[in-house]
Amino acid sequence: MTVELISVGTELLLGNIVNTNAAYLAERCAALGLSCYYQSVVGDNEERLKDVVRRGLSRSDILILSGGLGPTKDDLTKEVTAEVFGRELHEDAHTKERIEEYFRRVHTDQVTPNNWKQALVPEGAKVIDNHNGTAPGLIIEGDGKTAILLPGPPNEIRPMFERDVAPYLNGLNPEGIYSKMVKICGIGESKAETMIADLMDAQSNPTIAPYAKTGEVHLRVTAKALGEEEADELMRPVIEELYHRFGDKIFTTEEEVTLEEAIVEFLDKRGMTVTTAESCTAGLLAGRLMNAAGASNVYREGYITYADEAKEKLLGVRHETLMRFGAVSAQTAEEMARGAAGAAGADAAVSVTGIAGPGGGTDEKPVGLVYIGCCVKGKVRVEEFHFTGNRAKNREYSVARALTLLREELLRAD
Ligand code: ATP
Repeated sequence: MTVELISVGTELLLGNIVNTNAAYLAERCAALGLSCYYQSVVGDNEERLKDVVRRGLSRSDILILSGGLGPTKDDLTKEVTAEVFGRELHEDAHTKERIEEYFRRVHTDQVTPNNWKQALVPEGAKVIDNHNGTAPGLIIEGDGKTAILLPGPPNEIRPMFERDVAPYLNGLNPEGIYSKMVKICGIGESKAETMIADLMDAQSNPTIAPYAKTGEVHLRVTAKALGEEEADELMRPVIEELYHRFGDKIFTTEEEVTLEEAIVEFLDKRGMTVTTAESCTAGLLAGRLMNAAGASNVYREGYITYADEAKEKLLGVRHETLMRFGAVSAQTAEEMARGAAGAAGADAAVSVTGIAGPGGGTDEKPVGLVYIGCCVKGKVRVEEFHFTGNRAKNREYSVARALTLLREELLRAD
């Protein structure tokens, strides 16, 4: 079953407001298993709106229109859609009562005669009560097509959609969309895609779609099914196959779980603690870890050691190491990680030292050169990276790689 979204409002066309309703409705319709092939934005203009509604009805089963249900003359959605469906408008006693009740509830004396325009309903339409405003939603059905009219304000449209429209759509199309997000770290996007090329070629239900995120690859596995149980049955073999191919590089299959959350949970379960010693990322890594709820159970203190003296003073990096190899070196990264673990009394420590740019690079040590050290239970591993972004990107990549290295070392030591 296909659905088409029509957002009505000149302010959308002018860019005065962002079309968050379309994003919300598109996501919800996809989750309900409806295919959305077209979206339009049209201003408050009778002819153009009529044209878009007619065109929508010619190519889609269901139209969802948002906005233009207000009391003023330029609110035309209901009038135009009713005309296209060949329906007269008549006053609906229930809606009128609800509008009166709404005004009583908000104690307003701002009622004007045009407010009663909102009590007019197309013949045969279903009314969807609006608990947060005056414009009711409407469902008009005819000739195998459906138009669902909803008000523009997000705090009105969303509760109406969840409460009444989603169940209605479910009745029309009981098949839903279910998905799992297989999140992988420590492997590049193109390598990951190559590793599952055969699965992607053969896919039908479920499907696999890859998304790249800094330092991570996410594979969305999506099934169309009549319920969650059936969807799980369909997805299970595919997810098992992905585990077979990517092993413990998969850190979660839950949409909302982040890499830092997976790491914090791992540490917390084992009663372990972690610390960070950061030079070029200067707190960004600690900040990412701290995004995870429960981070306070595993993280007590950390170090931002930008200057050489700070690396010596707080982490015990040897002066000789800094002189001989430089602050951006594998040796310094190693001593930073070991020193941080010792200073904080933590089971694990991650260090980052590098040249984020734009200045500071040399032929020998160019911008983007970053060393990341990880010390777990006294054993240190250091990795060298060559990033090619700007300052912000290089710092972001460093954090992503530092988390991946930390996770790998924790798994290795487990
Ligand atoms: P009302 O009954 O409040 O007049 P309405 O159905 O007539 O609502 P509009 O007048 O088109 O809706 O829009 C009212 C407000 O709702 C806009 O000023 C804007 O803040 C918000 N809005 C409208 N359409 C959208 C949209 N597509 N995305 C996000 N917000 C929107």
